[in-house]
Amino acid sequence: MLWRVTSLCKLEKIMTNISVIIPVYNEEDNIQPLYERLRSVMQKMGVSYELIFVNDGSQDKTIRLVKALAYKTNEVKYIDFSRNFGHQIAVTAGLDKANGDAIVIIDADLQDPPELIAEMYEKMKEGYEVVYAKRKKRSGESVMKLWTASMFYRILARITSISIPVDTGDFRIMDKKIVEILRQMPEKNKFLRGQISWIGFNQTFIEYEREERQAGETGYTYGKMMRFALDGITAFSDIPLKVVTYFGFIVSFIAFLISLYALYSRFILRDYVQGWTSLMISVLFIGGIQMIAIGIIGEYMSRMNSNIRNRPLYIIRDTNL
Ligand code: UDP
Ligand code: MG
Repeated sequence: MLWRVTSLCKLEKIMTNISVIIPVYNEEDNIQPLYERLRSVMQKMGVSYELIFVNDGSQDKTIRLVKALAYKTNEVKYIDFSRNFGHQIAVTAGLDKANGDAIVIIDADLQDPPELIAEMYEKMKEGYEVVYAKRKKRSGESVMKLWTASMFYRILARITSISIPVDTGDFRIMDKKIVEILRQMPEKNKFLRGQISWIGFNQTFIEYEREERQAGETGYTYGKMMRFALDGITAFSDIPLKVVTYFGFIVSFIAFLISLYALYSRFILRDYVQGWTSLMISVLFIGGIQMIAIGIIGEYMSRMNSNIRNRPLYIIRDTNL
């Protein structure tokens, strides 16, 4: 890595090439304004850059607009997926192809202000390998989304052994080193912000107020968010499995005490018909616990299964990279 001594006798990291990765899913109205804002930020920073648009199976004019830009400007690159593979996989494809010394991940809907990249870049020069953007405020999101997201990050922080920053998306700048390590992490269920925390090095953040989506609609349905949340938990914590085991012991112990009592009432008290209520309750309770346990094991197993299947993570229809 190159370093430069600045006038203040401080070391400063030199990064001259920046790759910006932009996953796009039905973002036709955001492409042009995003491109213009990114270009002006990059020009102000005085760096050479590439903007890698990863089209994640959009059904609108997104890819045509991106390709039109790519024909006009050398800096615009595109990767066009054969279908929708999901946001994390789209970002991963961009990371696989990025050439920069520093790599930025940003959303296409302008919820992550491109101007912040300059600030993150300055911070990184101080010697950090990762500078992520932490949301101070989020406007234009539903109460339900804010609440579920906030709960999720706090639960995740409690049950994982690594510290995944709360209230942080994927908007960040990273050193090439980090990306090289990410490329060697073969897991299929990606939870990039967790993987990046897990990698370590010097990481820091800057705070910002997250704006509303400029145009179009969110591509993250509740189904996708749920899957993403489970990917994060299963990839970084075995606590749900352990909790189930403890629960199993506790419930079995209680069940053992109840059986003693049942035998006592059957043979000593000779009281058979009564107890139907407790019987029903315990059968249902244990049934419920078992279903949950099987479900949790299933979540881990299905992820193991997709890793063993070893299919390619994504399929590219067309790219200029
Ligand atoms: N996105 C994607 N594939 C998807 C869903 C979303 O590539 O299946 C992209 C989307 O175009 C955007 C980013 O991921 O650039 C974040 O998605 P979105 O804004 O819909 O999520 P939200 O901000 O609502 O969480
Ligand atoms: Mg968004």
